[in-house]
Formats: sequence, C-alpha cells, structure tokens
Amino acid sequence: MECSEAGRASAGLTQANKRENDKSQKPDFSAYFSLENNPLIDIVSAKYHSEDFTLTRTHYITGRLWLMCIFFAITVPMFSFFDFVTLPVEQAQSLMLARGLLSVSLFLLAYILKQQVSVTLVRGVMGLAFLLPTLFYLFTMLSFASAQAGEVPAIFAMMPYLIIAMSGLFPLTINGGLILIGIVFVPFASFELGQVTDSYWPLFNAMWLFVLFSGISLWLQTAQLSMLMKLYRESTVDPLTKLINRRVLMRMAEQEQQHCLQYGLSFSVIMFDLDRFKRINDEYGHLVGDKVLLMAANVMKRELSRSDIIARFGGEEFVAILPGINLEHAIHIAERIAKTIRAESLMLDSGDLIRVTASIGVTQYQPHENIEQTLKRVDDLLYHAKDNGRDRVISDSQIS
Ligand code: GH3
Ligand code: MG
Ligand code: MG
Repeated sequence: MECSEAGRASAGLTQANKRENDKSQKPDFSAYFSLENNPLIDIVSAKYHSEDFTLTRTHYITGRLWLMCIFFAITVPMFSFFDFVTLPVEQAQSLMLARGLLSVSLFLLAYILKQQVSVTLVRGVMGLAFLLPTLFYLFTMLSFASAQAGEVPAIFAMMPYLIIAMSGLFPLTINGGLILIGIVFVPFASFELGQVTDSYWPLFNAMWLFVLFSGISLWLQTAQLSMLMKLYRESTVDPLTKLINRRVLMRMAEQEQQHCLQYGLSFSVIMFDLDRFKRINDEYGHLVGDKVLLMAANVMKRELSRSDIIARFGGEEFVAILPGINLEHAIHIAERIAKTIRAESLMLDSGDLIRVTASIGVTQYQPHENIEQTLKRVDDLLYHAKDNGRDRVISDSQIS
C-alpha cells in the first residue's frame, strides 16, 4: 500500500505521540516486577500489579470465595436444628427464615462466581459475601434482644470475629484487606454503639477484640499475598534477564489480541535470536554466555517502551510485542535495536572483547488471526534473516 511521505510522517508523529502518552498513562508493564525497588508498595496496594498478576490473584480468590460461599450456604441452615433445640420456637423460626435468606444469597453469589466474571465483579461479590453474614449477625442480635433470652450463646456473639477471621483466607493487599474489614466493622460498630447504655466498657471490649482479629487477618492476608507473589514471580520471570517467560508472553499476547479486536487496533511483534551464540558458549564458557544474554536483554529493555511486552522466549531467543505500533515503526525500532546490540561489547578479564549480533523478524498482527499464526509468521521471518546471512532485520514487507 502506497502512502505519501507527508502522510507517513504525520502518521508516524501520531504514533510517536501515542507512544509518549502510553508512557505516561499506561501502568508500567514491568512495574509488577519491581520488588527489588520497593516491595512494600506491592503489599499495600494493587495499583502497580501487572494485569496478568491481578488476573492470577483474582482467579485464586474466586476459587476460595466460591468454596466459602458454598460451605456457609450449606452449613448456615443446618444450624437451625440447634436453634430449635436451644431457643424459643418463635425465635428459632425467625432465625430459620434469616438463615434461609442468607443461604440463598450465598448460593447466588457462588453461582455468579462460576460465570465469566470481571475483577471488579469478584471484588463486589467478595464485599457482599462478608456484608451479608454481618447483617445476619445484626438480625440475630436484634432477635435475642427482643426475645429477652438472657445470655447470647457464644456462637452468635462471636460471629463478627469469625467473619473477619475468614478474610484471612484471601491473598489481599493492605488496602483491600482494610476495605473488607471496614465492610464488617461499620455495621458491627454502629450496632454496638447503639447498644451502649451506662458503660462504654462492653463497646471498648468488643472493638478491642475486633481490632485484634482484624490485625491477625490482615497479617494472614498480606502473608498469603507475598507468598503468591513469590511463587508467581518464580514461575513467570526468567531469573537471569528478569524478563517474563514464554508462558506469560502467550497469555499477555492473547489479551493484547482481544484488546485489538475489540477496539480495532493492531500491534507488532519482533522476534530476536542471537547469532552463533553456541560458539560464545563453546569458546568462553556458559557464564560468559549468560553475561552476553543479559547484555542483549538489557539493550531490549532500554530501547523498547515501558508499555511494550518483552519476553525471553527460549534460550537465546526474545520476543517483543509492541501495542499500537505499525509495521514501519516496528521495523525502525528493530533496526535500532540491531544496531545497538552490534555496537555493544563485553570486556573479559583476559582482555578479550566479545561482540554479538542478532537476527530479527518483524511482523504486524493481522485482524482475526490467532496469536500462534502471528508468532509462526515472525518465526519464519527470523529464519529468513538467518538464511540470508544473519545480523539483519526481515519483515513482512520484504517477503511479500
Ligand atoms: P544461530 O545463529 O543459527 O542462531 O546459531 P546459534 O549458535 O545461536 O543457535 P543454536 O540454537 O544452535 O544455539 C543456541 C545456544 O544457546 C545453545 C545453548 O547452549 C545456548 N543457550 C541457551 N540458553 C542459554 C543460557 O541460558 N545460557 C547460556 N550461556 N547459553 C544458553
Ligand atoms: Mg541463535
Ligand atoms: Mg535459537
């Protein structure tokens, strides 16, 4: 397809502007992997978690939440039996009704969780899964107050603490945990405040105990979150280059593809393979080979934008996905990276200077193809680059 120089220049400018905007607005894709910089931030808030980690965590939370809803949906009505044995019939009847309502609501929440739900919806369901039992607790307290049944059994009186203890099951950030605690705390504390007659001691006792349980739950939640992060990081990040691995790249590429289909956008894919890398290993050893790999990975990190997705695809193969970038622009970026890799060198203690080059394939995602097709095409292009003498960039436009 032909287009005028002026048109191309203005299109390039729009792309460049978009890229600058992307830099400032889009969360840094690699921000999640910034644990070395500030591990606390990742525990406090999910703001800098990568989309992929958020989805992984939500998936994990959804499974546990579903189990919790089902467990209580089944057991809460079963306790009606004890109500009828230990409480006046009328009170047991009204409690049975409330138990039934809670159980149906929890079944409904469990059902919603089994549908394809968004991260926001799971958060909403989670809030409700903790709010509804709290409202049930308030109902039981009012029921005991009106029945004037004397001492409230511990199983009822302890309910808010048990509810908050359940929140320790989930890997939440401090912000998320505090919101969940607030959902239970506000109705509970308001009710307790309304119960104050002559002394504030019962209120103080209740709040003190609640804060204690909340603190332990927060601890459990964040401990689970950091464990999940550690496992996630180990299974997704290459320890040598600190780039994501092939598995995550495939997941992220599919997300990018969905995004492009939805909004009529496109992205480019660049595949790099270091040339004659085996020789470096054979000649200087694996440790030197590793340093060269790291050098090449650092060039890619430096030369690509923060919103691009870079992965170590295999041994000495790397793949980058460039959202919103057309083929021409991607070729330009690939050429720049090839030039920088060529110019880079590694000085050994022996005084030897090691240089490396890369063969590069560049393609643009075509609407409605699947990501495997795009990757197959870019892989073929890379092998064209190898066949044509290595240390070069080959793209769709040169083949067709
Ligand atoms: P070509 O130009 O055709 O790509 O040649 P090549 O030697 O780069 O290709 P080949 O696939 O034959 O060799 C790749 C080598 O990369 C083989 C393997 O020993 C090395 N390699 C893979 N992963 C690592 C790694 O993590 N560290 C080191 N040091 N070497 C690695
Ligand atoms: Mg190679
Ligand atoms: Mg290779």
